[in-house]
Amino acid sequence: MDRAPDAQAPTQDAIARCLAPAAPRTVFPSSAGYDHDRRGFNLRIQILPGVIVHPVNVPQVQAAVRCARRLGLNIAVRSGGHSYEGYSLGKDSGMIIDLAGMTDLAVDKDRKTATVGAGWRLGPLYYAVWQQARLAFVAGSYPSVGLAGQSLGGGYNLISRKFGLVADNVLSMTVVDAEGEVLTADSANNPDLYWALRGGGGSFGIVVSLTLQLHRLPDTIAVFRYKWPREAVKAVMTAYQRWSPALPPEANAMMVVSPSGVSVKGLYIGASSAAAAAAAPLLAMVPGPKTLFLEEMPFIESVLFFAGLPTADPKVLSPERLVIEPVWFKAKSVYLDAPLSSEGVDMIVESLAGTGLGPDLIFNTYGGAIGAVAPDATAFVHRKTMFSMQIYLEADASTNHDDAMAWMTAFGDKLRPYASRFAVPNYIDADQKDWPTAYYGSNLARLVAVKQKYDPQNVFRFAQSIPTHSP
Ligand SMILES: Cc1cc2nc3c(=O)[nH]c(=O)nc-3n(C[C@H](O)[C@H](O)[C@H](O)COP(=O)(O)OP(=O)(O)OC[C@H]3O[C@@H](n4cnc5c(N)ncnc54)[C@H](O)[C@@H]3O)c2cc1C
Repeated sequence: MDRAPDAQAPTQDAIARCLAPAAPRTVFPSSAGYDHDRRGFNLRIQILPGVIVHPVNVPQVQAAVRCARRLGLNIAVRSGGHSYEGYSLGKDSGMIIDLAGMTDLAVDKDRKTATVGAGWRLGPLYYAVWQQARLAFVAGSYPSVGLAGQSLGGGYNLISRKFGLVADNVLSMTVVDAEGEVLTADSANNPDLYWALRGGGGSFGIVVSLTLQLHRLPDTIAVFRYKWPREAVKAVMTAYQRWSPALPPEANAMMVVSPSGVSVKGLYIGASSAAAAAAAPLLAMVPGPKTLFLEEMPFIESVLFFAGLPTADPKVLSPERLVIEPVWFKAKSVYLDAPLSSEGVDMIVESLAGTGLGPDLIFNTYGGAIGAVAPDATAFVHRKTMFSMQIYLEADASTNHDDAMAWMTAFGDKLRPYASRFAVPNYIDADQKDWPTAYYGSNLARLVAVKQKYDPQNVFRFAQSIPTHSP
């Protein structure tokens, strides 16, 4: 039975006693390493949990859920810890269930599937699957992000226009529910939960493992990058928005606009000659990129390229060598259902020119296999949109953080008239207006129904979790 929520926080002894039979590793505020362990990727969010539990198997996850409920502890679930608003850190005095130790891996080369523990980070998993099978899978570009958290929010990558979102490539999940029971979620078992977990976030239970669809790519793929100075920003923004939606699904490119200039980088699942032909219309519209890079490389080296790492040594992605560098940042996002108007582009150019801060505006193009899935086929509703635009601002100690936050708010307000009212679930933003609709649109009511069925006591809750009743 749950403990009354207003009761005093349980003592360390009580938590340790409850967890003792399952014997997971635990870190308490008095433990060595607590300050390191409590941190998420975003240093802006600082939480002081009462205990961090490190399960290495499913019974330990079940025990953690049951103990937290018995003792009245708030539960937060952490895979890679990259939630933009620290939603995997929970609340002061609560329990973090950290799945980083759950890294089983079983690759089936014939079926091209991998069943992976929820603790895998993207870089190490790309590397391990490549080592075992020379196969690829869809996941994001930043190596320390967690696969589980990313798939729960949809998950986008440059090969998504060919193979779909990360969530579209999840064939099955094993889940520990609010009662501590183990469920399978796939098209044959608990299909409503399976539907909700592909885009509806971490509101329904703890995903302890996932089965992924893998893909065989050509021996090499083409990777390119073009860069223009500040003066070309308006022309490149305009050209990119006309050019990229018309690319074939094999090709994709992201645009990053910053106060110092603009870059377009992407890939073509094929030869560099095909990539050059695909890029030609963009370069015709905006000639004279400053640096030009176009090379063929194996998929695993493209992972390094897009992570900004030297491509010569894929081993840097291995768990032993992966470097995780938390930073202070704030981000927001919008979806654009059509190219920005000329006034919208002007507003962006002016806003960037006037800031001494260093925001990046990151445009991703949708369409292809992403748009081929119906908006209600999974919980990820944003299937018919043209672009996502992320506004990402990192700040070090030399930046006034209040100024950074104020700029983000003001820029978000200026952008609103030019964008749709929707936002990217994985770029979760505590300040997002009307967030339930912005993230989940017409799928919200169904998500609430799934929440009522699988977690009626709202055990898996955070500031922007799916509510048990319609908002
Ligand atoms: C530097 C950087 C680069 C990024 N690049 C991309 C990108 O290329 N493409 C993209 O789509 N996104 C990208 N993201 C966004 C990223 O996908 C989300 O932040 C994602 O939620 C991170 O997952 P995580 O497991 O690392 O985070 P966590 O903080 O561990 O989890 C995120 C959320 O999911 C919940 N959760 C985590 N694991 C589980 C689980 N096993 N069961 C139930 N709930 C769980 C958490 O409680 C939390 O609410 C990026 C983020 C960063 C910081």
